Amino acid sequence: MFDNYDFIIVGAGFFGATVAETMAQRGKHILILDKRHHIGGNAYSRFDAETGIEVHNYGAHLFHTSNRQVWDYLNRFTRFTDYKHRVFTSFKNQVYSMPINLGTICQYFGKRFSPAEAQALIAGQKAELGDNPPQNLEEKAIALIGRPLYEAFIRGYTAKQWQTDPKLLPENIISRLPVRYNFDNRYFNDIYEGLPQEGYTALFERMLNHAAIKIMLGVDYFSIKEQIPAGTKIIYTGPIDRYFDYSEGKLGWRTLDFEQETLPMGDYQGTAVMNYADEHIPYTRILEFRHFNPERHYQTQKTIISREYSRFAKGLDEPYYPVNTPQDKQIYARYKQKAEAESHVIFGGRLGTYRYLDMHQAIGAALKLCETL
Ligand code: FAD
Ligand code: UDP
Repeated sequence: MFDNYDFIIVGAGFFGATVAETMAQRGKHILILDKRHHIGGNAYSRFDAETGIEVHNYGAHLFHTSNRQVWDYLNRFTRFTDYKHRVFTSFKNQVYSMPINLGTICQYFGKRFSPAEAQALIAGQKAELGDNPPQNLEEKAIALIGRPLYEAFIRGYTAKQWQTDPKLLPENIISRLPVRYNFDNRYFNDIYEGLPQEGYTALFERMLNHAAIKIMLGVDYFSIKEQIPAGTKIIYTGPIDRYFDYSEGKLGWRTLDFEQETLPMGDYQGTAVMNYADEHIPYTRILEFRHFNPERHYQTQKTIISREYSRFAKGLDEPYYPVNTPQDKQIYARYKQKAEAESHVIFGGRLGTYRYLDMHQAIGAALKLCETL
């Protein structure tokens, strides 16, 4: 059953699907398998039977990139809507724009600031750090926005999201959020942005619709591993620590619990994503799926929301965000060394390389890999 494939790909997310599609175009025979019962990995979405609303099963997935190669590649399989992501954050019963921009700053300090005045204000506040470069998330956030805004919009949210002292978290987590001294309230800075017009799953179906690609769903690689002929090339996009049976220790991950509800109203919160900065509110954000697709004519009697709760992953929990403490980094370095010695296996994707990758980065890395195969 597992003979005669040039590549067996473990995981039908963006990394695995991109390698499968690219190598099939080059005449290779591919088996792609996933332990889940659907393709698409974490980007998978489905149309809710009751309301017709597209629901992103594993949290909101917004496509954005400045990588022209990745954009052109995906445009072979889908058209994109012109959705531009905007996020709001609720703090002490007020609603502000996120990421922090001039509007957020004026509203928070209750005063009109010009761009130069706002910059001078934040520069004064970050002086508390002295000349030392920021060493962790807290210092980086204060360097970017000063302590008052950090304490209002970042500290509580980050405490809920990571349950780790912000002084122990890497600064790059917060570098993902832009800070703007103008009224631009778009969430992403990228050149290209949008959502697949017919949904993510249709996009994956087109990518994998090729005579040389066989798909097996509901199959765990570790339950069939022994049946694969020796020497078969494997592209593995599952968790790297699982591959080595946790011999070097378990890598730290955050998981999410999604509390989904269908409500008897046309609009619950007026926007796609509302963050909750107050620490005493247990969820980090609420998604309302209908707002991701304003171009669709969804019914107006019902809407679907999802509250997101974050916690440490254990046992069979889905690993979502690598925690990446200094200890995790040491453990990963040991797995990486082992992975390099595994000559017939290539480790890729978010789980296989223990990195937070956006979709465009996972696709970009997969395309790059294919150049070398
Ligand atoms: P995945 O999509 O995770 O695919 C890996 C697949 O491997 C999974 O389907 C899994 O079931 C399978 N697998 C694992 N182990 C085995 C095994 N033993 N046997 C068989 N199959 C196995 N990116 C963005 O660009 N924009 C966003 O807005 C965005 N939002 C996100 C929100 C959340 C909550 C999360 C967690 C991530 C978000 N991302 C976003 C990141 C995005 O999900 C990843 O970039 C993308 O999933 C990476 O693709 P991948 O193929 O590496 O991994
Ligand atoms: N963050 C925050 N407040 C917010 C939004 C983000 O403190 O309102 C911090 C938090 O630490 C989070 C990080 O910024 O983990 C990155 O945010 P992003 O929205 O990129 O996270 P994701 O969408 O991947 O969950």
